[in-house]
Amino acid sequence: MTLALGCIADDYTGASDLADMLTRCGLRTVQTIGVPDDKLALPEVDAVVVSLKSRSIEAATAVARSREADKWLRARGASHVLFKICSTFDSTDAGNIGPVMDALRADSGDAIVLVTPAFPGTGRTVYQGNLFVGSVPLNESPLKDHPLNPMHDSNLARVLTRQSRSKVSLVDLATVAKGADAIRARLAELAKQGISAAVIDSVFDPELETIGQVALDHRLSVGASGMGLGLARGLVASGRVKAASPNADQKAVGGPVACLAGSCSQATLAQIAQAEKSMPVLRLDPEKIVMGEGEAERALAWARQHLGKGPILIASSSSPDQVAALQAKHGRDAAGHAIEQAMAAISEGLVIAGVRRLVIAGGETSGAVVDRLGIPAFLVGPEIAAGVPVLRCVGWSKGEAVMALKSGNFGGPDFFNDAIGLMP
Ligand code: ADP
Repeated sequence: MTLALGCIADDYTGASDLADMLTRCGLRTVQTIGVPDDKLALPEVDAVVVSLKSRSIEAATAVARSREADKWLRARGASHVLFKICSTFDSTDAGNIGPVMDALRADSGDAIVLVTPAFPGTGRTVYQGNLFVGSVPLNESPLKDHPLNPMHDSNLARVLTRQSRSKVSLVDLATVAKGADAIRARLAELAKQGISAAVIDSVFDPELETIGQVALDHRLSVGASGMGLGLARGLVASGRVKAASPNADQKAVGGPVACLAGSCSQATLAQIAQAEKSMPVLRLDPEKIVMGEGEAERALAWARQHLGKGPILIASSSSPDQVAALQAKHGRDAAGHAIEQAMAAISEGLVIAGVRRLVIAGGETSGAVVDRLGIPAFLVGPEIAAGVPVLRCVGWSKGEAVMALKSGNFGGPDFFNDAIGLMP
């Protein structure tokens, strides 16, 4: 197996977003949960996205895990690795984008690395090195109040300089507009001056393709899904990857199918109400879950009665008022954690009961379930709704299985049935 592209993502949902994007661009893509075991048997793919949870941990640990992922990807032939960060450059002055970038660049042997979180199609543009979120600079966007990494400076060269040992400079929009060779010339000039990281401007999506094409001359790049799009398009355009359809190889898994909802987003609440018209739905008592009163066992007993007859849905979700009341009583983190763990326990019981087709609503809920089930990797399949693909488990000890993992607000009104329809 020779990978055309390796990616290291600093959180799970960012990794899924990127894996979905690469698949849409025609790359056969696997997303792994953590750095895989050497024994993991990968299907024939073009790209692997290693999902880490390294965005907000101690910098030294983030560096160590990212280097380990890089080594794994390089050992499978990846000549280019994208370090995937958030499109709002989520980080602090202590890292972790800068320290990870420094370490991966040193390992790659590259003199200079291109950096951009730009993805104009989703409202992330970079001009003169300043990141805009929609129409406002980063430091005026809601990210200024982020609980873990408030972003108070929109100038990315400055932000990166504070977190990294590299000298950082800019490839501006005027240079980008002149095309790939102008960018190459500018990078050569910067490298000669001892500059080892270059933030690159982009305000329209087609520029991402030019940037991707140039980035592929190097062994490392740093960016968000927009950079992923540029790299994928560059690989296909240059003939290094033959674009594939994600619909190929859809082997049926069969057996009982179950849905779990832990998201309390408006979209999910409406999707649960819609599902109630076509399948049995069990609404859990969140208070009993937090008090440890056997809700998971009750849910599993209920599930075993219904599983043979068609799809089922188990939901902890409740209205904003009820969520607020539960959080006020028990604390937000304690309530959230207890419910996530109950959902993970229910998923484990469902798997024991024979379920191999599972639909999960909620980002954190999905993370808790995937961790508990010990699924090492997923092959990204056809898209159920924007940003939500069917995922086929790879290398799982329980054998063949498919899942859909949806973050809160994604999907249309009949999401659960839409998902099941694409999971034979
Ligand atoms: P989303 O993708 O919509 O943000 P998540 O699963 O990421 O969904 O987050 C939802 C959080 O709310 C989880 O921590 C979950 O355990 C918690 N939760 C689920 N149901 C309830 C409820 N009824 N009351 C309070 N918190 C809940």
